[in-house]
Amino acid sequence: MSMLADEADLVDLGLRWAPGFSALGPAFFTELQPRPLPDPYWVGVSARVAGDLGLDPSWLQSDEGLAAFVGNSPVAGTRPFASVYSGHQFGVWAGQLGDGRAIFLGETAGGLEVQLKGAGPTPYSRMGDGRAVLRSSIREFLCSEAMHGLGIPTTRALCVTGSDARVRREELETAAVVARVAPSFIRFGHFEHFAANQREDELRALANYVIDRYYPECRVSPRFGGNAYAALLEAVSERTAALVAQWQAVGFCHGVMNTDNMSILGLTIDYGPFQFLDGFDPRHICNHSDTSGRYAFNQQPNVAYWNLFCLAQALLPLIGDQEVAVAALESYKTVFPREFEARMRAKLGLAEAAEGDRALIEGVLKLLAQEKVDYTIFWRRLSHGVASGDVEPVRDLFVDRPGLDAWLQSYAGRRAGTPAADTAARMLRSNPKFVLRNHLGQQAIEAAGQKDFSGVATLLRLLESPFDEHAGRDAFAGFPPDWASTIEISCSS
Ligand code: AMP
Ligand code: MG
Repeated sequence: MSMLADEADLVDLGLRWAPGFSALGPAFFTELQPRPLPDPYWVGVSARVAGDLGLDPSWLQSDEGLAAFVGNSPVAGTRPFASVYSGHQFGVWAGQLGDGRAIFLGETAGGLEVQLKGAGPTPYSRMGDGRAVLRSSIREFLCSEAMHGLGIPTTRALCVTGSDARVRREELETAAVVARVAPSFIRFGHFEHFAANQREDELRALANYVIDRYYPECRVSPRFGGNAYAALLEAVSERTAALVAQWQAVGFCHGVMNTDNMSILGLTIDYGPFQFLDGFDPRHICNHSDTSGRYAFNQQPNVAYWNLFCLAQALLPLIGDQEVAVAALESYKTVFPREFEARMRAKLGLAEAAEGDRALIEGVLKLLAQEKVDYTIFWRRLSHGVASGDVEPVRDLFVDRPGLDAWLQSYAGRRAGTPAADTAARMLRSNPKFVLRNHLGQQAIEAAGQKDFSGVATLLRLLESPFDEHAGRDAFAGFPPDWASTIEISCSS
């Protein structure tokens, strides 16, 4: 019996696959195969994500694993597809977008969707080439795992594979593919798509799918007179509020909070020009293409709300009543500050809320902003300062010593009665030593361009457990070099 060429290189990952998103039917996606890349090689692998998927990490790094995750060999049991969505980009309705370079392999029986990002053009590529470049793929890979290490909801990254195939951006670069993993990659933009096209049946099917799969409590919620779609909107609002509160507390700037980059599960998704703040500048704009500062660090909470408003608009035909839809968004305004304060309290090592906490938090953020003090280093030094009783290393970060001393005094007063060791232990679990600063990513990227992938592996190890000390790795926890501020990260990826 003769075999089809495709079947000859079919790779069996040993995973069971479920229908998942594809059960929604052809209105939601187009089936297609990834387009092969020549002479692929490994760039980075997360053993943790491999474990979550049920893949043996040592098998994964075989030639077969490489061929499967770069998109060169079809995977047994899968029918790959790209999904369609629309969205608002930089505040403007952009119409149809879709997975222009991400191809779903499918969903595992364990409930994890696997996508290959950069695996070739799709019907939704518009003018794009369907590829992703090595630098942005390394950034997405490392940041996905860094966020997870920080305890922040995110899509995950299984691996990055590369090829010397040329990809044209501002300059010629090389191609890479990120295999990314999440319970769902559904975005606000998926809902906006069917709403804008007045396809209410598909809109309802999508909402029902999301509720049944990910928010079953909305089906039985008594909120809004039993309106499950309003309950869904409220639940998404609350998850989004909690997510953005975590971003603000850790100093993470997403950079492109378009509605097509907003996860219906409240995950951080689509890592592009993101940045962890070096010096604390609330107005920091990390995306070189964002000339108006729409997505500046301190705008993120408002932009998330604006995006939720777009989602509300899209769900309106299902919710059926504008007032109910608006009411379903209300809790964002209480959940965001509540979650933000809780995160900041954790950074301060405070176990319980007390009156005056907000002033204490605002006080320290104001001091940090005044002098653009390094955000991550400040919090880590403060943690050690509480542990040892020696705050000189913290004072060294400031010119305005009297201002800092006054704040330190009120902070000491707030902690009075709690053993410093307990407070410090909490702080060291909330204030990371390692974050993926731009310059660290840049160094790993430059080495990877020379086929030295050890920098990617080292950063992955540190970022997977960013609260640990990692003896001998202090160079990765220091101040950014002067050249870090000259790194320009744009939407180009
Ligand atoms: P992003 O800004 O990366 O979230 O992308 C916005 C939209 O453009 C999405 O629909 C992407 O799939 C699509 N896109 C971005 N880059 C490319 C590319 N190189 N080829 C095809 N589509 C792309
Ligand atoms: Mg996107």
